[in-house]
Parts: sequence; C-alpha cells; structure tokens
Amino acid sequence: MGSGHLTIDLGALAANWTALDAKTACETAAVVKANGYGLGADRVARTLARAGARRFFVAVAEEGSAVRDGAGPNVDICVFSGHMPGDTEMISDLGLVPMLNSLDQVLRHFEALPGHPFGIQLDSGMNRLGMEMSEWAAVAEIAIEQRPVLLMSHLACADDPDHPMNARQLAEFRRMTDGTGVPRSLAATGGILMGPEFHFEMTRPGIGLYGGLPFADARPVVHLDLPVIQVRDVEAGETVGYGNTWTAPAPCRIATVAAGYADGITRHLSDSVTMWHGDTPCPLRGRVSMDLLTVDVTACEEEPTALSLLNHRQGVDDLADIAGTIGYELLTQLGHRYARRTTGP
Ligand SMILES: *Cc1c(COP(=O)(O)O)cnc(C)c1O
Repeated sequence: MGSGHLTIDLGALAANWTALDAKTACETAAVVKANGYGLGADRVARTLARAGARRFFVAVAEEGSAVRDGAGPNVDICVFSGHMPGDTEMISDLGLVPMLNSLDQVLRHFEALPGHPFGIQLDSGMNRLGMEMSEWAAVAEIAIEQRPVLLMSHLACADDPDHPMNARQLAEFRRMTDGTGVPRSLAATGGILMGPEFHFEMTRPGIGLYGGLPFADARPVVHLDLPVIQVRDVEAGETVGYGNTWTAPAPCRIATVAAGYADGITRHLSDSVTMWHGDTPCPLRGRVSMDLLTVDVTACEEEPTALSLLNHRQGVDDLADIAGTIGYELLTQLGHRYARRTTGP
C-alpha cells in the first residue's frame, strides 16, 4: 500500500463525547463542521448519535447532508451560518435548523419557510457571527413569538479560562437572553471546562471530541502511520532533500516515507519533527516535500516498513505546536490520500 494509514478510533471519539457530557447537567450536542474536523462527518455523526448525541452543528448547510446520512432522521442538525441566500431548499429538504445571524436572515427565513424550526445566534463580543444587542432588541419580541429552538453565542477566549473576556461575554449573553425562556447555549469545549455558569441548557463541543486541547483529558482519536518506500545509506557530509538544508554529520540510514505537504504535513515541520518506529524516535531530516519525507532511521534495530507520525506519544496538539499552529488546523488539513480505517466502538 503506497499511501499512509489514518486510523480513526471511534471508540475514543464516543468516549470523549461521554466524558464531556458527564461534566455538565445539560444537553451535549456535537460540532461536526468541516467534515467532522477532517475525520468524516458521516462516520463521526453516526458514532456520536449512537453514543447519545441528539443535536449536531455544521458551519454551512451543504455540510448537513453527510450528517443526516450518518446520524439519521431523528437528530437536529443546526447551521452556524444561518439561512443564506439559496439555502431554502436544502434547509427544508434536509430538515436543517439555521441559526439566524441577522435581521436579513430572520426576514428571509420567516418569509421562505414560515413555521420551520430555527435558532438565533447572538454576538456577545467576538464580532464574528450573530446579532448585536441593538439589532436583537429590535427583533427579539417577534423572533421569540415564533419560538426559536435555541439562543446561542460563542466565546472568543475560552481556551484561556482566566481571560476577562469570558466573564464579559457571559454577562452580555445573559443581558441579551435572561427572561426569554428559550433554551440557551454558550459553551464549546473550552466553555464546558470553565464550569456550570457557562453551560445553560446545551453545550456544543467540537475539538475535545476529536482529542484536542483544551480538553487535556481527551483520549487521542487519530493515529497516522506512513509507509517507507525505500531506505538508503548516507555518508557523512552528504545532504538530504530539497535545498540541501540538512547535511549528515555522520554515516546514517535515511528512510523515504510516502506523505508530504500535499497530505497536510505542513512544510513548517521541515527539519523539526520526529516520527516513531515503535519506541524509537526517528527525526525528520531536510525539507518536507509534496509527497515525501526523509527520516533518519539509523537508531532502528530492524529496517522499518512504516513510521508513525501521530500516536500516543505525539498527538495532534504536539504536532501542531511544532508546526506553529493549533490542533484544529492540523486535523482539518489531514489529506485525502490517506487510507482511512476506523476502530471501535
Ligand atoms: C467551532 C465552533 C464550536 C466548537 O468549538 P470547539 O472549540 O471545537 O469545541 C462551537 N460553536 C461555534 C459557534 C463554533 O464555530
């Protein structure tokens, strides 16, 4: 097999949802935008529906179809981008619940699909999606009469529990929604960990389900193993890869591995990441190319046929740190060439 193997541990995914659910007394939904953070929205939604999730969130209506296929007819699928022009048929056919973000969207939805379920997204300070207080004040009464299923907002700094923005947004969200009697949601993964005042009637974890920070107790969900194409001896003084960025200080064995930046292994990992052969660390030498990596396997007792990049020693956040990014980006950039294999539950 010439391509890498991405193993997705669905048992760990379900366990992470259950663990986050156990931290609150309210409903726990699941965010499966961007194709389930790169792991496959259909299989992720199916697994989490079996674990007990009854509500899913996607970024855009187009993503609803895979979630409906995976989770079946009896779950709610909510759309963060709301009711966009041209979405009416999709919202209606797939039974999606748009989170309306503006007066325009409220009018579009009420006109196009009267009586169809919707939620409202409010801006409590992030200035990204949702209505601000002045706009909300103008439509709140009419919107609440139409019985929204949810009022939601999103925290900008929930990965840092000590950030004063969290309390400011909590107060603003309360000011906008207290007394409405409508179910509310403010917390994603970070908000769940900040405690009960952030939980309201529903939480919406994403990254923690997939094994990422800030849910430090998450079980890893993704393992990545890459096949070795060939192994060669390199003499002291020889160079490896594009640009001659690495020169062998001593004789060594270099394995050429089948994956590169076209598979989401960003070029920022050049000369700086370690792969693993069992317990043996194998440092990447030289630059990451489009389809290939060159890795020092001198320390391996036997010649490896595959090397591991994501495993129990090196998770998505470790790799993201080395690459100067975050687990979210690393996961959603995982390439399409990998053979995807699932284990459990
Ligand atoms: C992505 C997203 C989430 C999930 O956030 P995580 O940090 O991945 O848990 C929740 N709500 C909104 C509005 C989002 O955009």
